[in-house]
Amino acid sequence: MPLYDYRCASGHAFEARHGMNAAAPACPVCGAAQVQRVITAAPCRLLGMAADAGRSGSASMEQINSKWAEETPKLREKLVSKLGEETVSRNLPTLTPKEG
Ligand SMILES: [Zn+2]
Repeated sequence: MPLYDYRCASGHAFEARHGMNAAAPACPVCGAAQVQRVITAAPCRLLGMAADAGRSGSASMEQINSKWAEETPKLREKLVSKLGEETVSRNLPTLTPKEG
C-alpha cells in the first residue's frame, strides 16, 4: 500500500498508509477529519525524469560506435579518392575494415 503524507487544517503533518481509494484518515494529533494530502513524491519524480532526459540527451557509447561505423567507410572513400587505396591501407589501417 502506498504511503501518503497529510496535513490537517491546523498544520499537523502526518503519514498514513492506506489503499488508493480509501478515504483520508483523520489527523492523529488533533483528530481533524479535514486533512489534505501533501504530494511529496512529485519533486523526486520530476528530478528522476530530468535525470533520464539528461542521460538520453547525451550520446551513448553504442550510438557513437554505430555513427563511427557509418561514417568510417565514407571517410575512407574520400581519402582513397585523394591519396589512393594503397596509401590509405598502409597509413590508416583503422579505417580499413577488418576481414574475418
Ligand atoms: Zn491536526
